[in-house]
Amino acid sequence: MDVWTHHRWRFPLPPHHRFPIEKYELLANRVVADGIAAPGEVHEAVPAEWTELAAVHDYGLLSRIREGCLTAREEQGLGLPWSPALVERGRRSVGGTIAAARHALEHDVALNLGGGTHHAGHDFARGYCLFNDVAVALAALRRDGTAGRALVVDCDVHQGDGTAQIFAEDDRTFTLSLHGARNYPFSRVPSDLDVDIASGTGDARYLRALREALDFALDRVRPEFAFYLAGADPWEGDRLGRLALSKAGLRARDEHVLDRLLEAGAAVCVVLAGGYADDVRDTVDIHAATAAAVAERTHALTPGLVGFQTDGFPPER
Ligand SMILES: [Zn+2]
Repeated sequence: MDVWTHHRWRFPLPPHHRFPIEKYELLANRVVADGIAAPGEVHEAVPAEWTELAAVHDYGLLSRIREGCLTAREEQGLGLPWSPALVERGRRSVGGTIAAARHALEHDVALNLGGGTHHAGHDFARGYCLFNDVAVALAALRRDGTAGRALVVDCDVHQGDGTAQIFAEDDRTFTLSLHGARNYPFSRVPSDLDVDIASGTGDARYLRALREALDFALDRVRPEFAFYLAGADPWEGDRLGRLALSKAGLRARDEHVLDRLLEAGAAVCVVLAGGYADDVRDTVDIHAATAAAVAERTHALTPGLVGFQTDGFPPER
């Protein structure tokens, strides 16, 4: 299946920084090795235009980001050192989500191998998130005249405060966030539905909460379009997350979300969001399983085949 990536646009980080810059390239290679995407189906995302970003973000914030004039406090909240490369990469991450979202309209479901930068709000950029890719992509779809009623399903372990702020007054967009109750951010902006999950929660209780939350949200919004933030950080070995899902539990989460959204008639754009395992290969495993679940729903792959193919190409569609 077609996927979007921006892994070649790296930016300088201090030694031992927690941002997992390696995961993006490893994942792009992995989806090809697993036969989820042919090499020609891995597309380099183009940068989102500043005018597209301005549909969501405050002009002053965008100017400070563009010119490298973030205040010391803003840069500290962002958690990443400003550089021209950081801005270029951020714009490409958003561009990948815009491209995947438009692709999803034609193919029911699509995946950006990046994005999910949900801590970026209208007038703030924090928690490793420069721009809110999902909000910018939804604005682009609506300018195209599509995606009237929309649902954001945010399963990153951290609450989606930026997304909640941007859509707070938008009654065509329902924001749902399931997250660790004791995880960042500690000052929150309420989503339409926030589900606080207790530290140490494992697969069964998490999946029950997810099912109930989706019942509620789907009943409220009846979405034509949905974004799914498939964070890898609810995993039991994550350094930042406080939940205890297994890899199998995360795969079950992905399948349940995708099936419920597709059954409800929504086109679905999937983005990665966070993942901070000690060994980045664990994070890549989790995201690759998400990619496989997406591919199975595009009919590009036969269910169960992923992991057993070695020729690098999916079966014919
Ligand atoms: Zn996260």
